[in-house]
Amino acid sequence: MGFREIERLYLGGISVILDAREEINLGSEINIAQDEGAETVGCGPLLQALSTSSMPLRQQVFEYVRSHGHAARADITEALSISPGTATTLTAELIASGHLREIESANRESGRGRPRVALEVVPEAAYVIGIKLAFNRHTAVLADFAGNVIADVSIASSDQRRSVAQVVQETSDLIEALLKTSGKSWHEIKAIGIGLPGLVEHETGTVVWSPLLQSGAEELSQALTAHFSVPLLLDNDANMLTLAELWFGEGRSISDFAVVTVESGVGMGLVLRNQLYRGAHGMGLELGHTKVQLDGALCKCGQRGCLEAYLADYALIREAATALGSAYDPAQGPEDILASLYEQAKSGHQAAETIFRRASRYLSLALSNVVQLFDPELIILSGERMQYDYLYADEVMTAMDAMILNEGRKSCQVKVNAWDGLVWARGATALALSSITASLISHAKAA
Ligand SMILES: [Zn+2]
Repeated sequence: MGFREIERLYLGGISVILDAREEINLGSEINIAQDEGAETVGCGPLLQALSTSSMPLRQQVFEYVRSHGHAARADITEALSISPGTATTLTAELIASGHLREIESANRESGRGRPRVALEVVPEAAYVIGIKLAFNRHTAVLADFAGNVIADVSIASSDQRRSVAQVVQETSDLIEALLKTSGKSWHEIKAIGIGLPGLVEHETGTVVWSPLLQSGAEELSQALTAHFSVPLLLDNDANMLTLAELWFGEGRSISDFAVVTVESGVGMGLVLRNQLYRGAHGMGLELGHTKVQLDGALCKCGQRGCLEAYLADYALIREAATALGSAYDPAQGPEDILASLYEQAKSGHQAAETIFRRASRYLSLALSNVVQLFDPELIILSGERMQYDYLYADEVMTAMDAMILNEGRKSCQVKVNAWDGLVWARGATALALSSITASLISHAKAA
């Protein structure tokens, strides 16, 4: 299962590539980041070995094998610039500890002689859970040590702010459902990654503020830790999405890129030199709350003039009642209202069109600012909402291009990835996997 490239457009200095990912069967194994017809090979950043790494050599060997799916000792020796003897010792330790295993490589030289022996990750060496907590729907996936998704669940949630205790209960229900679906038990789970909207200090796991919570956000981490006796990693949901691109998607082989997502909020993640950039205080980047209008529209955060207040789902929905008139059904959920609004716009309904047109102009503005500030090689427009093509219409890219100082500037590519709804939770598995890998592998020698 993969995605197929459906269209390429080149506009001024900006090239736009649109991908449509196929629907994914819930409950089945998913391979999200692959070209059509090609098998997913490994997971994790492919450029890791090229960066200056402070990682222990044993872990570098492991990460190399995981990111390439499988690798022969000779390839590891060459890629990490280590001696064949060192590669043999380190791989022997990783095999003895049950993290790597030997497989017969299909790559037999000239079809003669002994087949080459390659190494691969032992998938069942560890399991992790990735979760996205959100308004209306929570999602979770369970992945093995090689990054394969074993199971997923999605449960409806409230569209209201809730207490810390409610979030803990909802997370617990989600995990129980996931364990039941996967047939795995609690003791097999080595870490849980959780992404949620808001300001999260990743290092300490402190949720400073989240639109999901009524109050006491800073107590969430402690409450979750007290409830689950498994290492927990919390992060901003846009960072989860960015990790999904870095580990499983387009960003695997790109050193500097930005991810922008438009849904119930407007999020952004940034990868600099193959690493997720979280800022000096670990709070990440809040593109949605950058101001685009002084004294402008009221944002969910309580301030005025935030980008989100013009571009996110709720910004469109609050105008939908007026625009749709009798076609507006308040009993519908936000996703359905948005779908109706989009349908109306497509069929030429002028007021509905106006709503989308304004939102798309603000997206152009946001993207041009991202280019001006960070000079990324690629901007990935990611998330479920990319099924709405107004977000990457010609006018958006033309307007974005017009707002960038293009004199002598190298072009920035914009790529659209319309992932399925599990992408966020999948990114959270990357957070959990990268966290447990260091501790499991560092103990490999003693095992
Ligand atoms: Zn705001």
